[in-house]
Amino acid sequence: MSEPLHDTWRSREALLLAKAVGVASPADAIVHKVQSLLQIANTFEPPVSPFRIAKYRNVSKILISDLAYDAILEPLADGFLMRLNRNRSLYRRRFSCAHELGHTFFYEMFPERGALAEDISELFDQRQEEERLCNIAARELLLPRSMVLSRILDSSINLETVMATARVFDASYPATALRLIELFEWKCALIVWDVTVDDTTKELVPRVSWSASRLGFIPPHPAKAPRSWIPIIVRALDNPGVPTGITECAGSFGGLKTPIAIDSLCINYQEGYNRRRTYLLSLAIPG
Ligand SMILES: [Zn+2]
Repeated sequence: MSEPLHDTWRSREALLLAKAVGVASPADAIVHKVQSLLQIANTFEPPVSPFRIAKYRNVSKILISDLAYDAILEPLADGFLMRLNRNRSLYRRRFSCAHELGHTFFYEMFPERGALAEDISELFDQRQEEERLCNIAARELLLPRSMVLSRILDSSINLETVMATARVFDASYPATALRLIELFEWKCALIVWDVTVDDTTKELVPRVSWSASRLGFIPPHPAKAPRSWIPIIVRALDNPGVPTGITECAGSFGGLKTPIAIDSLCINYQEGYNRRRTYLLSLAIPG
């Protein structure tokens, strides 16, 4: 899925939230809610723990359970019970928890709702505006605007900045990259690749998992990498955990005509007990 950075909202949930806060934009409204929550919870330093803050949203208990989905939020007579999936990485559980805290603001407006079970594997699914708003809430909670802007003194567009910021905020690289693009208005595209090996040809097949762009193009989803990108992607895969360095590359992707530089990073991590995942993060920067 691609993440549009524009702001058009139509759903009843989104518009009611904006009205309740007294601002025009539902995105501004949910950010305002989260900023107030951080104040109430006396949280002014990273990393922010969504698990500790949950009690300030009336979540009386968080259970780490075997689930068929990422998270479930169950309304009780006097608050919420949250369950998070044991077989997800800590980053994913932190994001799920923060995202579910976003939903608690909507329960305030629609108290008749039942339990909400969901899979956020498509983190940037645009189908429902409330889901987008809860992702915005999660980003504001885990990478608060004021904390990022005051602590990141060198905001050069590269993956070193992404990694340094992610360490301070205990956030995943993709979530951090998306946040830096948003807050510092980085003129670049972020592409997250799932890399597989073709059974027949044994060739690497990097496909776009999701992307975000401020370059006036969004890579199609799912899309194979253009041939000129393959050597850069292969080099990133051979050097996991270390950015490959920016390499000049003709901009043949998604109709982009100008030359671009690509900075890529391979990420291997353990998800759950027996599942390893590999993906690749790329920043495409106009040359
Ligand atoms: Zn949700």
